[in-house]
Amino acid sequence: TNPVFTGLPTTVFETMSRLAVAHQAVNLGQGFPDVDGPLDIRKLAAKALIDGPNQYPPMLGLPELRQAVAAANKRFYGLDVDWQTQVVVTSGATEALTDCILALIEPGDEVILVEPLYDCYLPLVKRAGGIPVRLRVSPPAWKLDLVALASAFTENTKAILINNPMNPTAKVFNETELAAIASLCVQHDVFAICDEVYEHLVFDGVAHRPLMTFDGMDDRCVRIGSAGKTFSLTGWKVGYVTGSAHLIDPIAKAHQYVTFTTPPNLQKAVAFGLGKDDAYYEDLSGDLAAKRDRMAAGLTHLGFGVLPCAATYFLTCDITGLGLGDTDVDVCRRMVEEAGVAAVPVSAFYAGEASTDFIRFCFCKQDHVLDEALDRLGRWI
Ligand code: PMP
Ligand code: GLN
Repeated sequence: TNPVFTGLPTTVFETMSRLAVAHQAVNLGQGFPDVDGPLDIRKLAAKALIDGPNQYPPMLGLPELRQAVAAANKRFYGLDVDWQTQVVVTSGATEALTDCILALIEPGDEVILVEPLYDCYLPLVKRAGGIPVRLRVSPPAWKLDLVALASAFTENTKAILINNPMNPTAKVFNETELAAIASLCVQHDVFAICDEVYEHLVFDGVAHRPLMTFDGMDDRCVRIGSAGKTFSLTGWKVGYVTGSAHLIDPIAKAHQYVTFTTPPNLQKAVAFGLGKDDAYYEDLSGDLAAKRDRMAAGLTHLGFGVLPCAATYFLTCDITGLGLGDTDVDVCRRMVEEAGVAAVPVSAFYAGEASTDFIRFCFCKQDHVLDEALDRLGRWI
């Protein structure tokens, strides 16, 4: 018989969301808001769907969206981006990551990944034939060990994949860490694939700084964004990659064979959304920060060891001492079955780690939903 490749696991988000439905649980597992993004953006998408055209848009993306992405790079980070050669629109950041890895990684190339890592990185790098080199950051601060970082770079290193702000740790890499990454990339002639989907979900007045803004990075760095996160429309799956033309060219070639294009009405609406005023972006992060604080206070009161959260949708909590189960997977399973609250075990973000002391709660939910989850947990613990 012809064997089937069975090396791809089921993602933890799929598993937990299924369990959440089966147990009618409050789903604080998979990261998605429970309220849809701005009505004007959705209306524009609906109108564009009715008015058309609904045929294949340009392979690189609608000009108006590529122009809007370039303008956003200038507006938020002072980056000069040529919309015609330096932007490609993808079906979500997931496709963008796939395209970047297929385009830039060849069999035998080493790719540095920071662990805990977002779930699709490892399978994608491995299926491309890349050799993952994992570099751990440790709680509570998840600081990058600069000595370990330097020794992860070898003559076979092709790229480093950095998620900043970082899921699941809710960490924002500081200037020292980013400068060290940038200088090592320059020194070793390495590409940086920057997953910056949470670029606008940064709290407490801290500004996101792309790795691309560091010296020597503009021609070796690609930056990935997601309209799903920026406009609370995760189901739309509209992403974009920005980078120098000699990198975007092969990435766009990979995009040709992965999806070729992304729905034109959604692109049109996202182009409009990116032009929203500063108040939109401030409210987005301000509202989320308030939810973070609400959830953190409630979880702390229940005895969870809530770690600092500077960005993203996620709170990571220490569960040791609560006696809720033997492993983080155990705790999450019992929590969904017995308490009716779904979370995600942080071991899912490691390669082959049986358990960690942490679970991840998603807090981008309506206040009454967060309160209901806290009530349920309070009755259970
Ligand atoms: N990268 C990270 C770090 C994420 O958390 C997510 C989750 N949505 C993605 C990429 C994928 O984004 P998209 O939904 O736009 O594919
Ligand atoms: N990024 C989301 C999370 O971390 C999940 C997206 C997905 O389900 N693939 O929860």
